[in-house]
Amino acid sequence: MRLSPRVTLNNGVMMDRLGFGLYKVPPADAAGLVTMALEAGYRHFDTAAMYGNEPGVGRAIGALSAFDGSAGGSGELHPALARQDIFVTTKLWNDDQGYDATLRAFDTSIAKLGLEYVDLYLIHWPCARRGLFPESYRALETLYREGKVRAIGVSNFQPAHLDRLLQTAEVVPAVNQIELHPWLQQAELRSMHASLGITTEAWSPLGRGQVLQDPVVLELAAAHRRTAAQVILRWHLELGNVVIPKASSYARIRENHDIFGFSLGSADLEALTGLDRGVRTGSNPDDVN
Ligand code: NDP
Repeated sequence: MRLSPRVTLNNGVMMDRLGFGLYKVPPADAAGLVTMALEAGYRHFDTAAMYGNEPGVGRAIGALSAFDGSAGGSGELHPALARQDIFVTTKLWNDDQGYDATLRAFDTSIAKLGLEYVDLYLIHWPCARRGLFPESYRALETLYREGKVRAIGVSNFQPAHLDRLLQTAEVVPAVNQIELHPWLQQAELRSMHASLGITTEAWSPLGRGQVLQDPVVLELAAAHRRTAAQVILRWHLELGNVVIPKASSYARIRENHDIFGFSLGSADLEALTGLDRGVRTGSNPDDVN
């Protein structure tokens, strides 16, 4: 089984460039899907307090040594896989912003996950009108210094939010997780991240499935004898993004992981760059408060 290439974050921590997203995964399905994803080769999982499925994610990771291949896959999971081989991200929900509330919310998340540490803890949305994200981030810095999280970062931060954060932050965020796919290519944020040493992580990398129907994507998929999802995910990797597609069946989970054996040419990349039209499939961060 081929594993994902990794990116080295700005504090030296390594993160798989391909992870598995768990937004809208029902709590009862989370452990089964994470187990399937582990079997398919994923070692990086993206959850959040708001998703309500931290217990299932933690249960699947906690059960690694007991894995017997009964989740419907081929049973190829390496028996020696351990917690340190897995990268887990969770996120602070909006209602829990503020220094003390963030520390309490983290304790709740880690208890639900049943883990001793989290690999990456993110502020889910800036909620700029509340004005609490600098204080919330200070709490993330405390958790980082205490060794409870291996890296800290943000999500849905626009350039102005990053500028404000960096006025007081002592630790530059390792990651900004943002909506990013061929219809919303986020050139300004990506170049800002590059100049600051922040890794760009793409949420809804498939545009919630909508971009899979784009005729240009379908044409490239036919030319490469790959699926539309594989072409889009490969495009993300070639751009340097971290991606966390979500899928609900073992076939799609495997399909989305099978992207390391081909590459796109410069004309293909150019065609995909031409699809940028500033279309969001999720909320505008300026409207979430
Ligand atoms: P994605 O872009 O990952 O698309 C998921 C959709 O595409 C689902 O409907 C899925 O269907 C479908 N799909 C997946 N793979 C295939 C395939 N190979 N062929 C056909 N259809 C496919 O959207 P998400 O919004 O789920 O984003 C991914 C992750 O990003 C989330 O799970 C979450 O972890 C994170 N996220 C973070 C946000 C934030 O604010 N920080 C906001 C939103 C997402 P099905 O499930 O039926 O298989």
